[in-house]
Amino acid sequence: SLALFFQARRRRRLAAHDHFEPRPIELRSDEVLNGVTGLIGNTPLIRVNSLSDALGVEILGKAEFLNPGGSVKDRVALRMIDDAETVGLLHPNTGSRIFEGTVGSTGISIATIARARLVPIIMPDDVAEEKVKALHALGADVERVRPASIVDKKQNVARQRALNFGKHSSSGEPHLVQVPSSVVVSTSGDEKNPDDLMHKPRGFFADQFENRSNHDAHYDGTGPEIWRQTNGSVNAFVSGAGTGGTVAGTGRFLKSMNEKIIIAISDPEGSGLYNKIKHGVMFDYKESEGTKRRHQVDTVVEGIGINRLTDNISLALPIIDDAFRISDAEAVSMSRYLVQHDGLFLGSSSACNLLACIKLALKMDWKEGQTIVTILCDSGNRHYSKV
Ligand code: PMP
Repeated sequence: SLALFFQARRRRRLAAHDHFEPRPIELRSDEVLNGVTGLIGNTPLIRVNSLSDALGVEILGKAEFLNPGGSVKDRVALRMIDDAETVGLLHPNTGSRIFEGTVGSTGISIATIARARLVPIIMPDDVAEEKVKALHALGADVERVRPASIVDKKQNVARQRALNFGKHSSSGEPHLVQVPSSVVVSTSGDEKNPDDLMHKPRGFFADQFENRSNHDAHYDGTGPEIWRQTNGSVNAFVSGAGTGGTVAGTGRFLKSMNEKIIIAISDPEGSGLYNKIKHGVMFDYKESEGTKRRHQVDTVVEGIGINRLTDNISLALPIIDDAFRISDAEAVSMSRYLVQHDGLFLGSSSACNLLACIKLALKMDWKEGQTIVTILCDSGNRHYSKV
């Protein structure tokens, strides 16, 4: 009887859709793409219908969760590896290793792109377990560290491991090569010429927080794509900041095209960036909610929030116009709202970004004709255990 019910329902539906013209399937690209990296970037912009309809302002999200490694960080990982190879700091098939401290997304992106290279990843021990599983599946070595106060322990450990790797790969004393983008690469120190350097195994500390390639990936990619996709009619760009690369690169590009575009930050509770932008200092020690993220432990929203001035966020500070503080509870409610109303199952940083879009539209009293673009960084699949 259930089968009969479904058959009848299908007949009724088909009758109702007699005049229904199937939509042509639009491809992201007509070209045959060159392997997995060909899938990175050029992500579509999607209208978040429930919010746009409610506000009368167009809220558009850049669907970064469609990148092959599942997040906006694919762009950054690809650029960091490409740039390092271009200047000869990293060479494929030499047994080199890429070390990085990450809450997960960047590690997954590096492991996806690096493929055969072994990738040791240093992660805080309080991030969602599904990211660790993904990293293991991609062949990365994962070391967990307990997050600690303002010092970024995972970065320090990753830097140290990269250095030690150089030490063990040769008899000479290791030293750090500090290239202009501030990437630290360990070498054995006994290389006679650049060719030696090229072919020796080395520990490459990608250092997404200080590495300028991070900013460049967005300045050359995400920013121009948004400009093109909106025909230049974007009134505001909203982003969270983890390393600051997205807001720095995308924001600086958009401002260079039109200085009236508002650049706004979505900042989770406990992050110091909101205070920095509003009051000029990173911390308000009287503020109890700051304590939790100041110690970066057991946070719900992962990937955004900053408590120190990295090179990448420093680039962004002059162009940031506004900031909105988002509580963990708001982010969780918004994640669920988006599933129920739009069928969008997004990560918590995307939920924070969309909340900041709403707050900005209300604050500006914007109505029809205005467009706010934000980043939908990754999917909810990466956050089951937290949200
Ligand atoms: N969302 C998620 C889920 C992330 O992992 C990150 C990066 N840590 C960001 C947003 C922030 O991007 P950025 O590092 O460019 O500031």
